[in-house]
Amino acid sequence: MLNLEEKIEQAVILAGGYGTRLKPFTDTNPKPMYPFEDRPFLEYLIEQVKSFGIENILLLLGYLPEKIMDYFGDGSKWGVHIKYAVTPAEYETGLRLKKAETEGLLADEFLFMYCDNYCPIDYRRLCREYYAYEALIQFTAYHNLDGYTKNNLRIAESGLVEVYDKKRVEPNLQGVDIGYAIVNRKVLELMPEENENFEKIVYPQLVAQQKMFATVTEHRYYSVGSWERIELTKAFFAPKKVIFLDRDGTMNVRPPQACYIERPEDFVWLPEARQAIKELKDNGYQIVLISNQPGIARGRLTEETLAQIHAKMQQDLAEVGASIDYIYYCPHDWDEGCRCRKPKPGMFYQAQKELSLDLTKCWMLGDDERDMHAGGDAGCRCMYITEQHPLIEAVHTILKLDEVEK
Ligand SMILES: [Mg+2]
Repeated sequence: MLNLEEKIEQAVILAGGYGTRLKPFTDTNPKPMYPFEDRPFLEYLIEQVKSFGIENILLLLGYLPEKIMDYFGDGSKWGVHIKYAVTPAEYETGLRLKKAETEGLLADEFLFMYCDNYCPIDYRRLCREYYAYEALIQFTAYHNLDGYTKNNLRIAESGLVEVYDKKRVEPNLQGVDIGYAIVNRKVLELMPEENENFEKIVYPQLVAQQKMFATVTEHRYYSVGSWERIELTKAFFAPKKVIFLDRDGTMNVRPPQACYIERPEDFVWLPEARQAIKELKDNGYQIVLISNQPGIARGRLTEETLAQIHAKMQQDLAEVGASIDYIYYCPHDWDEGCRCRKPKPGMFYQAQKELSLDLTKCWMLGDDERDMHAGGDAGCRCMYITEQHPLIEAVHTILKLDEVEK
């Protein structure tokens, strides 16, 4: 039996617009050819599509199509089959799709993407929800709790899209659609033959039919839509290796249940933990500590004391030539309803935004189920630390994997 995500065999990427907000680059280049680390933005999208297991890609082009076609050819260099549908540059998204449908280029169901957003989405979850809800369109929505952009959605707890407001003026909106949509081709019956925008015509009708759902992510998306976004997108695509570490029981001896590390001298290193951190640093990793510290909410230690404990920790690490790069902790109690306390993934998303990380490329190491839940929900690769499988062994496994994946 096929996995759900294997039922989707085609990705359709809209890449035909003028990209006027990216002038003067777009005077002579189509927007998705803007380079990061010497590779066009669109190449990252194509590699991502391939990583989802999709090998057929249809690029809907309009403006300067030959620049894209010359670079990507038939796609074989990337292990995919690329087809092109070229229409006049002034065509709106709806007409571009409609033409592709008329010419028989669209699969019954396909992954629909914009050429100017990149987000490390959970593709399996997107597919699972599309089929579970019997949606006609299941798109990805950025939660936008950080006000990164303007909201245009109201989404029910179930994922049902209750309001799609392209003008972004309705009250109580939260979230914005970023593409990465599974689309049932049937929805193109809702499109007239006129030169119209796809979302503007189709989405409100699907909202009314209760056939449009959102898969919500807190992972920030990165864009070539405008110059303001380019610097962050550069930071995002800059190569980096990042590992998240839990503290107690992973790096240092875990205090007994309901007790806390309350003084610097309570912080006792586990065997070879400092060596493990040094090896990570020597191999170019940034290390991010992710720790629940409910002792603060319970009045057992202050944030000042915690800072002293961490200063001692850093001092001990400096002795072996290592350090922790960033420290995130949750000071709340379990019943405060915060978004940061593990097993919730809030601290990961905070670090993601502040450090421009791709969480699907990060590791989380911890000694508690909550570490695994939180890291897993955030999309990280996770590894359990136990007495039998201490930090140093986990680190050696990861460094070996790096060698293999090179
Ligand atoms: Mg722990």
